[in-house]
Amino acid sequence: MNKHHDDHGHHHDHDHGPLPSDVELRVKALESLLVDKKLIDTKALDDLVDTYENRIGPRNGAAVVARSWTDPAYHARLMENGTDAIAELGFSGVQGEEMVIVENTPDIHNVIVCTLCSCYPWPVLGLPPAWYKAAPYRARIVREPRTVLQEFGLFVPDSIEVRVWDSSAELRYMVLPMRPAGTEGWSAEQLAAIITRDSMIGTGIVTASASIDTALDEAL
Ligand code: FE
Repeated sequence: MNKHHDDHGHHHDHDHGPLPSDVELRVKALESLLVDKKLIDTKALDDLVDTYENRIGPRNGAAVVARSWTDPAYHARLMENGTDAIAELGFSGVQGEEMVIVENTPDIHNVIVCTLCSCYPWPVLGLPPAWYKAAPYRARIVREPRTVLQEFGLFVPDSIEVRVWDSSAELRYMVLPMRPAGTEGWSAEQLAAIITRDSMIGTGIVTASASIDTALDEAL
Protein backbone atom coordinates (compact mmCIF):
# COMPACT_ATOMS: atom_id res chain seq x y z
CA MET A 1 0.00 0.00 0.00
CA ASN A 2 2.81 2.38 0.82
CA LYS A 3 3.97 2.12 -2.75
CA HIS A 4 0.94 4.09 -3.86
CA HIS A 5 1.74 6.90 -1.51
CA ASP A 6 5.43 6.90 -2.43
CA ASP A 7 4.55 7.18 -6.09
CA HIS A 8 2.04 9.87 -5.54
CA GLY A 9 4.52 12.70 -5.67
CA HIS A 10 5.51 11.74 -9.20
CA HIS A 11 2.08 12.30 -10.60
CA HIS A 12 0.06 15.40 -11.16
CA ASP A 13 -2.95 15.59 -8.93
CA HIS A 14 -5.37 15.34 -11.80
CA ASP A 15 -3.94 11.97 -12.81
CA HIS A 16 -5.21 10.42 -9.61
CA GLY A 17 -8.26 12.43 -8.74
CA PRO A 18 -11.81 11.97 -9.89
CA LEU A 19 -13.09 14.20 -12.65
CA PRO A 20 -12.94 17.69 -11.14
CA SER A 21 -16.42 18.91 -10.37
CA ASP A 22 -15.91 22.14 -12.31
CA VAL A 23 -15.19 20.09 -15.42
CA GLU A 24 -18.34 18.04 -14.88
CA LEU A 25 -20.32 21.24 -14.40
CA ARG A 26 -18.88 22.74 -17.58
CA VAL A 27 -19.77 19.61 -19.53
CA LYS A 28 -23.31 19.70 -18.15
CA ALA A 29 -23.65 23.40 -18.96
CA LEU A 30 -22.37 22.82 -22.47
CA GLU A 31 -24.71 19.90 -22.98
CA SER A 32 -27.71 21.94 -21.78
CA LEU A 33 -26.77 24.81 -24.07
CA LEU A 34 -26.40 22.57 -27.11
CA VAL A 35 -29.72 20.89 -26.40
CA ASP A 36 -31.42 24.27 -25.84
CA LYS A 37 -30.07 25.60 -29.11
CA LYS A 38 -31.24 22.40 -30.82
CA LEU A 39 -27.71 21.73 -32.00
CA ILE A 40 -27.90 18.22 -30.60
CA ASP A 41 -30.73 16.11 -29.34
CA THR A 42 -30.48 14.21 -26.10
CA LYS A 43 -31.42 10.92 -27.75
CA ALA A 44 -28.39 11.07 -30.04
CA LEU A 45 -26.21 12.00 -27.11
CA ASP A 46 -27.60 9.15 -25.03
CA ASP A 47 -26.93 6.73 -27.88
CA LEU A 48 -23.36 7.93 -28.10
CA VAL A 49 -22.82 7.59 -24.38
CA ASP A 50 -24.44 4.14 -24.43
CA THR A 51 -21.97 3.09 -27.10
CA TYR A 52 -19.06 3.96 -24.87
CA GLU A 53 -20.66 2.62 -21.70
CA ASN A 54 -21.76 -0.72 -23.02
CA ARG A 55 -20.31 -1.63 -26.34
CA ILE A 56 -16.84 -0.14 -26.77
CA GLY A 57 -15.57 0.63 -23.30
CA PRO A 58 -15.97 -2.72 -21.52
CA ARG A 59 -14.45 -4.68 -24.42
CA ASN A 60 -10.98 -3.93 -23.03
CA GLY A 61 -11.89 -5.39 -19.68
CA ALA A 62 -13.43 -8.40 -21.40
CA ALA A 63 -10.14 -9.03 -23.19
CA VAL A 64 -8.31 -8.93 -19.85
CA VAL A 65 -10.75 -11.35 -18.24
CA ALA A 66 -10.74 -13.73 -21.21
CA ARG A 67 -6.96 -13.78 -21.25
CA SER A 68 -6.78 -14.53 -17.54
CA TRP A 69 -9.27 -17.40 -17.96
CA THR A 70 -7.19 -18.99 -20.69
CA ASP A 71 -3.63 -18.21 -19.56
CA PRO A 72 -2.71 -19.20 -15.99
CA ALA A 73 0.59 -17.29 -16.09
CA TYR A 74 -1.27 -14.13 -17.14
CA HIS A 75 -3.83 -14.72 -14.41
CA ALA A 76 -1.03 -14.87 -11.85
CA ARG A 77 0.46 -11.61 -13.14
CA LEU A 78 -2.97 -9.97 -13.15
CA MET A 79 -3.59 -10.83 -9.51
CA GLU A 80 -0.07 -9.81 -8.53
CA ASN A 81 -0.08 -6.44 -10.28
CA GLY A 82 -3.28 -5.51 -12.04
CA THR A 83 -1.99 -2.27 -13.51
CA ASP A 84 1.02 -3.87 -15.20
CA ALA A 85 -0.86 -6.94 -16.44
CA ILE A 86 -3.59 -4.74 -17.95
CA ALA A 87 -0.96 -2.52 -19.55
CA GLU A 88 0.53 -5.64 -21.19
CA LEU A 89 -2.61 -5.75 -23.33
CA GLY A 90 -2.21 -2.07 -24.17
CA PHE A 91 -4.78 -0.64 -21.77
CA SER A 92 -3.65 2.15 -19.48
CA GLY A 93 -4.24 5.79 -18.73
CA VAL A 94 -6.33 8.15 -16.69
CA GLN A 95 -8.33 6.46 -13.90
CA GLY A 96 -6.38 3.26 -14.44
CA GLU A 97 -3.03 4.11 -12.88
CA GLU A 98 -3.45 1.81 -9.88
CA MET A 99 -5.62 -1.17 -10.71
CA VAL A 100 -6.48 -3.94 -8.29
CA ILE A 101 -8.29 -7.04 -9.48
CA VAL A 102 -10.74 -8.71 -7.10
CA GLU A 103 -11.52 -12.28 -8.07
CA ASN A 104 -14.87 -13.98 -7.66
CA THR A 105 -14.79 -17.54 -6.34
CA PRO A 106 -17.49 -20.06 -5.47
CA ASP A 107 -17.42 -18.56 -1.94
CA ILE A 108 -16.88 -14.85 -2.60
CA HIS A 109 -18.73 -12.38 -4.80
CA ASN A 110 -17.08 -8.98 -5.28
CA VAL A 111 -18.71 -5.74 -6.32
CA ILE A 112 -17.22 -2.29 -6.86
CA VAL A 113 -18.48 1.18 -6.06
CA CYS A 114 -17.19 4.68 -5.45
CA THR A 115 -19.08 5.91 -2.42
CA LEU A 116 -17.63 9.42 -2.66
CA CYS A 117 -18.14 10.20 -6.31
CA SER A 118 -17.79 8.13 -9.47
CA CYS A 119 -14.26 6.67 -9.62
CA TYR A 120 -14.27 3.92 -12.23
CA PRO A 121 -11.57 2.05 -14.16
CA TRP A 122 -11.89 3.88 -17.47
CA PRO A 123 -9.13 2.05 -19.41
CA VAL A 124 -10.82 -1.35 -18.94
CA LEU A 125 -14.51 -0.49 -18.60
CA GLY A 126 -14.99 2.78 -20.46
CA LEU A 127 -17.47 5.31 -19.09
CA PRO A 128 -19.42 4.44 -15.93
CA PRO A 129 -23.13 3.82 -16.39
CA ALA A 130 -25.47 6.45 -14.94
CA TRP A 131 -26.61 4.21 -12.08
CA TYR A 132 -23.01 3.69 -10.96
CA LYS A 133 -22.65 7.45 -10.46
CA ALA A 134 -26.05 7.84 -8.81
CA ALA A 135 -26.42 8.35 -5.06
CA PRO A 136 -28.78 5.40 -4.45
CA TYR A 137 -26.33 2.81 -5.80
CA ARG A 138 -23.37 4.40 -4.03
CA ALA A 139 -25.12 4.39 -0.68
CA ARG A 140 -27.15 1.20 -0.88
CA ILE A 141 -24.58 -1.22 -2.32
CA VAL A 142 -22.61 -0.78 0.91
CA ARG A 143 -25.59 -1.06 3.29
CA GLU A 144 -27.63 -3.75 1.59
CA PRO A 145 -25.54 -5.31 -1.19
CA ARG A 146 -27.62 -8.46 -1.57
CA THR A 147 -30.83 -6.48 -2.04
CA VAL A 148 -29.24 -4.18 -4.60
CA LEU A 149 -27.73 -7.12 -6.48
CA GLN A 150 -31.10 -8.79 -6.55
CA GLU A 151 -32.52 -5.66 -8.17
CA PHE A 152 -29.92 -6.20 -10.90
CA GLY A 153 -31.30 -9.70 -11.28
CA LEU A 154 -28.46 -11.33 -9.39
CA PHE A 155 -29.39 -13.50 -6.45
CA VAL A 156 -26.42 -14.17 -4.16
CA PRO A 157 -27.23 -16.80 -1.55
CA ASP A 158 -26.18 -16.28 2.06
CA SER A 159 -23.59 -19.03 1.70
CA ILE A 160 -21.59 -16.69 -0.56
CA GLU A 161 -19.80 -13.77 1.04
CA VAL A 162 -20.33 -10.41 -0.67
CA ARG A 163 -17.36 -8.04 -0.61
CA VAL A 164 -17.89 -4.41 -1.59
CA TRP A 165 -14.81 -2.51 -2.74
CA ASP A 166 -14.83 1.25 -2.47
CA SER A 167 -12.78 2.80 -5.24
CA SER A 168 -10.79 5.87 -4.38
CA ALA A 169 -8.84 8.57 -6.12
CA GLU A 170 -5.77 6.33 -5.87
CA LEU A 171 -7.13 2.82 -6.40
CA ARG A 172 -9.52 1.44 -8.98
CA TYR A 173 -10.92 -2.05 -8.74
CA MET A 174 -12.15 -4.42 -11.39
CA VAL A 175 -13.97 -7.66 -10.68
CA LEU A 176 -12.63 -10.82 -12.25
CA PRO A 177 -15.81 -12.84 -12.77
CA MET A 178 -15.91 -16.62 -12.67
CA ARG A 179 -15.68 -18.48 -15.93
CA PRO A 180 -19.03 -20.14 -16.53
CA ALA A 181 -19.44 -23.87 -16.92
CA GLY A 182 -19.97 -25.01 -20.46
CA THR A 183 -17.18 -22.87 -21.92
CA GLU A 184 -14.45 -25.49 -21.83
CA GLY A 185 -12.29 -25.30 -24.92
CA TRP A 186 -13.55 -21.84 -25.94
CA SER A 187 -11.02 -19.41 -27.38
CA ALA A 188 -10.24 -16.11 -25.65
CA GLU A 189 -12.19 -14.34 -28.40
CA GLN A 190 -15.26 -16.51 -27.85
CA LEU A 191 -15.03 -15.95 -24.12
CA ALA A 192 -14.58 -12.18 -24.46
CA ALA A 193 -17.86 -12.03 -26.38
CA ILE A 194 -19.90 -13.22 -23.39
CA ILE A 195 -18.17 -11.09 -20.73
CA THR A 196 -20.46 -8.24 -19.77
CA ARG A 197 -19.68 -4.87 -18.26
CA ASP A 198 -21.80 -5.63 -15.20
CA SER A 199 -19.89 -8.85 -14.55
CA MET A 200 -16.72 -6.76 -14.17
CA ILE A 201 -18.48 -4.29 -11.85
CA GLY A 202 -19.94 -7.17 -9.87
CA THR A 203 -23.60 -6.37 -10.48
CA GLY A 204 -23.76 -9.32 -12.84
CA ILE A 205 -22.12 -12.62 -13.59
CA VAL A 206 -21.02 -14.22 -16.85
CA THR A 207 -23.21 -16.90 -18.32
CA ALA A 208 -22.37 -19.13 -21.27
CA SER A 209 -25.57 -18.08 -23.00
CA ALA A 210 -24.44 -14.59 -23.91
CA SER A 211 -25.72 -11.07 -23.46
CA ILE A 212 -26.63 -8.91 -20.48
CA ASP A 213 -30.26 -9.08 -21.49
CA THR A 214 -30.21 -12.86 -21.59
CA ALA A 215 -28.57 -13.04 -18.18
CA LEU A 216 -31.14 -10.66 -16.72
CA ASP A 217 -34.04 -12.49 -18.32
CA GLU A 218 -32.82 -15.77 -16.91
CA ALA A 219 -32.36 -14.33 -13.45
CA LEU A 220 -35.80 -12.77 -13.45
FE1 FE B 1 -14.99 8.61 -7.13
